[in-house]
Amino acid sequence: MSEAEVRPTNFIRHIIDEDLASGKHTTIVTRFPPEPNGYLHIGHAKSICLNFGIAQDYHGLCNLRFDDTNPVKEDIEYVESIKHDVEWLGFHWDGAVRYSSDYFDQLHQYAVELISKGLAYVDELSPEEMREYRGTLTQPGKNSPYRDRSIEENLALFEKMRNGEFAEGKACLRAKIDMASSFIVMRDPVLYRIKFADHHQTGDKWCIYPMYDFTHCISDALEGITHSLCTLEFQDNRRLYDWVLDNITIPCHPRQYEFSRLNLEYAIMSKRKLNLLVTEKVVEGWDDPRMPTISGLRRRGYSAASIREFCRRIGVTKQDNNVEMVALETCIREDLNENAPRAMAVIDPVKVVIENLPQGHEEILTVSAHPNKPEMGTRAVPFSREIYIDRADFREEANKQYKRLVLGKEVRLRNAYVIKAERVEKDDQGNITTIYCQYDSETLGKDPADGRKVKGVIHWVSASHALPAEFRLYECLFNVPNPGAAEDFLSTINPESLKVVHGFVEPSLAQAKPEFAYQFEREGYFCADSRHSSSEHLVFNRTVGLRDTWAAQAS
Ligand code: ATP
Ligand code: MG
Repeated sequence: MSEAEVRPTNFIRHIIDEDLASGKHTTIVTRFPPEPNGYLHIGHAKSICLNFGIAQDYHGLCNLRFDDTNPVKEDIEYVESIKHDVEWLGFHWDGAVRYSSDYFDQLHQYAVELISKGLAYVDELSPEEMREYRGTLTQPGKNSPYRDRSIEENLALFEKMRNGEFAEGKACLRAKIDMASSFIVMRDPVLYRIKFADHHQTGDKWCIYPMYDFTHCISDALEGITHSLCTLEFQDNRRLYDWVLDNITIPCHPRQYEFSRLNLEYAIMSKRKLNLLVTEKVVEGWDDPRMPTISGLRRRGYSAASIREFCRRIGVTKQDNNVEMVALETCIREDLNENAPRAMAVIDPVKVVIENLPQGHEEILTVSAHPNKPEMGTRAVPFSREIYIDRADFREEANKQYKRLVLGKEVRLRNAYVIKAERVEKDDQGNITTIYCQYDSETLGKDPADGRKVKGVIHWVSASHALPAEFRLYECLFNVPNPGAAEDFLSTINPESLKVVHGFVEPSLAQAKPEFAYQFEREGYFCADSRHSSSEHLVFNRTVGLRDTWAAQAS
């Protein structure tokens, strides 16, 4: 069943159902809060489908809010790519794009409120000392010597921080909670730090920036978010989320719920590590078709619908999980099997000359775009005396299992005639350069009249009409199922993740639209590459093969 037919159920939707039934909420408001420090990956798609999907199904709203509190790592390029990816996935945020930095003034006022209540203080421990004082999971922390400053002194020092009178790292604002808490996040967490860095939204207005935990809950509350959904690593932070909102004057207190992150086998989901692949030039960019990014998958030929369907199938739980790559591939394969137009491409070409056709013979065959979908129309496929077939589709000798072209035997050319191989020509190394055949002119769209059985069907392109093309064949970027766990994940890179080969495609592909996938019959699903393909030089990315090769490897 497809996404349109089935509305997902999960523990978060159950909570929402209860909140609506009890009258706690009448409208549901969610948000997707990326930090613009990288491109979105398939893990983010899970969060996007969850947050926007809930807003859609409950006739609620979902905000897109950039969680932009660290100007050093963030960039406007990432903001733009994220907006584009969310829209491409088919979702619409409510109103204008929001930024946590829109709230810097309010956040500053709330920090002053906490100081005025004796609930925050300016600390001057060095970062190393602060780490020492924090304690460990088994040992409580100890109070900073600066913890008991007066409210007036703290207000004055915070003002000095804001005015740029402290150097970076020399002072910070901390919440005064409990240095002995069993939750380390509650051991006087930092609320504000000094950074003399220009911000992509606020320029040089600030030299103090609020921390994530302080910013996130307040931003949620200011936007009237009802259900703040995040991944499990923020479970402990929920205490701080609630503490901040309980201790400031704000009329709204959203509830945070955590779900498990998506992990995908043979892939990496950390933006920091993905960034390293880009900066180390292991890949061509964030949108390299081997990357698990939304932009990489799009360039590879994945449809938005297939990614949404994948997210629907994996569901939302609190269980840690490692999803197999085949689950993602199955979604795109099913989509493209149903929807991709068919075409013929020969990836490893060898020439065939049909000797009983006259020189210059040309015939235009009308071929359907999809075998089961007449509504997808037809295309013109030229047939002529010289064609290319795939090297793997011919053998001089073979047993009965081999249902392709064999010397002295017949095979059907897909959408065309039956041919018979008569002889071959080889080069000095013994490689076949040309296969000479005869064709049966009475076999277009029908079996041979005398009842001869021709079982095999192979694909081909007309040599004089075919367009040269480059094919990029991808394998997983990593050699191990869990590269993220490796000490040095760069050492687990698969050196064979990209293979470039050259062949030919049928002329109807001259105008192939980038990122729009075709089924190249018997070869797999391919789309023109958005960066490198042009009418002078066609480049096709293999989106996915026709069959699941993982099962074969396992057995
Ligand atoms: P990364 O570790 O890749 O940098 P992040 O969590 O720091 O990820 P954010 O930009 O902060 O990235 O994430 C935005 C939202 O997407 C958050 O709500 C986060 O929980 C969610 N998210 C990020 N990665 C995943 C994942 N692998 N599975 C599900 N949700 C995710
Ligand atoms: Mg983050």
